[in-house]
Amino acid sequence: MLKNIVIVGGGTAGWMTASYLKAAFGDRVEVKLVESKRAGTIGVGEATFSTVRHFFEYLGLDEQTWMPECNATYKLGIRFENWRAQGHHFYHPFERVRVVDGVPLTDWWLRLRPSDRFDQDCFLMPSLADGFRSPRHLDGSIFEDSIGPVIAPSPQRTTLSEQSTQFPYAYHFDAALLANYLARFSMKRGVQRIYDDVLDVALDEHGGISHLIAREHGPIAGDLFIDCTGFRGLLIGKALGEPFQSYQDVLPNDRAVALRVPIDMAETGFRSCTTATAMDAGWIWTIPLYGRIGTGYVYAKDYCEPDEAERKLREFVGPAADGLAANHIEMRIGRSRDSWVKNCVAIGLSSGFVEPLESTGIFFIQHAIEQLVKHFPGGDDDHGLRASYNRAMANCMDGVRDFLVLHYRAAARDDNDYWRDAKTRPIPDSLAERIEQWQVRMPDSETVHPYYHGFEPYSYVCMLLGLGGVPLRAPPALGLLDDTAARKEFELVRDTAQRVVEKLPSQYEYLAQLR
Ligand SMILES: Cc1cc2nc3c(=O)[nH]c(=O)nc-3n(C[C@H](O)[C@H](O)[C@H](O)COP(=O)(O)OP(=O)(O)OC[C@H]3O[C@@H](n4cnc5c(N)ncnc54)[C@H](O)[C@@H]3O)c2cc1C
Repeated sequence: MLKNIVIVGGGTAGWMTASYLKAAFGDRVEVKLVESKRAGTIGVGEATFSTVRHFFEYLGLDEQTWMPECNATYKLGIRFENWRAQGHHFYHPFERVRVVDGVPLTDWWLRLRPSDRFDQDCFLMPSLADGFRSPRHLDGSIFEDSIGPVIAPSPQRTTLSEQSTQFPYAYHFDAALLANYLARFSMKRGVQRIYDDVLDVALDEHGGISHLIAREHGPIAGDLFIDCTGFRGLLIGKALGEPFQSYQDVLPNDRAVALRVPIDMAETGFRSCTTATAMDAGWIWTIPLYGRIGTGYVYAKDYCEPDEAERKLREFVGPAADGLAANHIEMRIGRSRDSWVKNCVAIGLSSGFVEPLESTGIFFIQHAIEQLVKHFPGGDDDHGLRASYNRAMANCMDGVRDFLVLHYRAAARDDNDYWRDAKTRPIPDSLAERIEQWQVRMPDSETVHPYYHGFEPYSYVCMLLGLGGVPLRAPPALGLLDDTAARKEFELVRDTAQRVVEKLPSQYEYLAQLR
């Protein structure tokens, strides 16, 4: 059996991996984590998927404990601003679509159009987010009684791809605080932290890694090496030479500039969502944490110079940006051909990354760690396990790539070259075919990317309805069906949203009383 695991990198990926492996295997494995004090972490990565909850549950951590330590807030979905036209917005919520008489309510919406806001007509979350609401009442109960039992902590440890629950929210958190928190968690459970720089990687006679060579500690040996060195890909790319497959031909955004903006939350309050605001050469994220806003402009260098991007970001933030240092980041968009090669598994940015438009970075990490535990090698002939793991990772990242390409392709906005080129740039054939199909039949489980990639058909439906650039029509059959129940459901959504918004505390009120 493999027992000695060496992780290189102490960012979100490194510490999520260390803590999860300890929670899974306890003292039956030995885990060392080597991190450099010179090479920093990426310093961003603050918005998550709702399924990150499985990760915290697996570690046995409850919200009341970890959220205040990481300045965390609730995220009920993503608010897309200006993607269709200036001043327009819509939500991609963490909420599955209701089904009425066997037909998704969003299909009924196309036929009946009770208002021009499909998101508010079909889902509850947009009203909560627009109203700056917490999804929990001050006594900790969830906003709707019927949802409570569904999201109660599971006695079973489950993984993402096996889960069937739609949690109604995700979190925003300070990535550095989370890494510190997980480092403390891991070290208490026996993970050995080594501050040092890995200078070289020695290979064995089979081409796998025999040991690392560190500046102060010299050789560091192990059975399995986990590359969490970020975009550097020190082990998987530099030492083992695994090729990197770029997605940049279909997703051209390759830069970001970020700011950390302190806010007086008691004064301003904040929306319980991530906001993605379309710009001339990309989009700006706004992520409210407890006490500050994380914000950044993701853009394509081919369309905008870094100075210009920083200027636009500062303009967007306003006077609060004065005097704040900007963090310029070059992004490597794509994935390692294989993420597991010989005795090295890449997790985090070293394995792959797509722009953070749907907050998938930490999701990829979580998925990778869970699959690693499932496919954990025995030490002899692990070829089949490796192949299965690599397929799962590649399918997941390729699926997310296609979903993001759809965001640009389907956005009605076409007011400059950046947005016009997004409509004519070649896209993966499979996606082109699907978009054509979706014009007459809204996305469902038979027509979205067939492998697990974190997004369900309702996410595609929301994006198509919100972005507005692909013509959609209601199934003609709806004209022949009785629509009474659908009309009632729209009323129910409206009434429920109004009721819970009135009763719920603001997100600030709720989080302040957790401290
Ligand atoms: C602009 C941007 C925005 C993002 N936003 C989101 C988001 O909202 N949501 C989301 O889920 N994800 C987001 N991500 C992705 C997220 O930031 C990463 O997935 C996450 O932080 C994991 O990074 P990492 O640990 O792989 O790498 P890093 O944070 O880069 O850590 C690398 C580690 O390797 C160590 N290291 C490097 N070289 C050596 C060496 N030679 N010796 C020893 N140690 C070494 C470093 O010291 C560091 O500890 C975003 C990414 C970018 C670029």
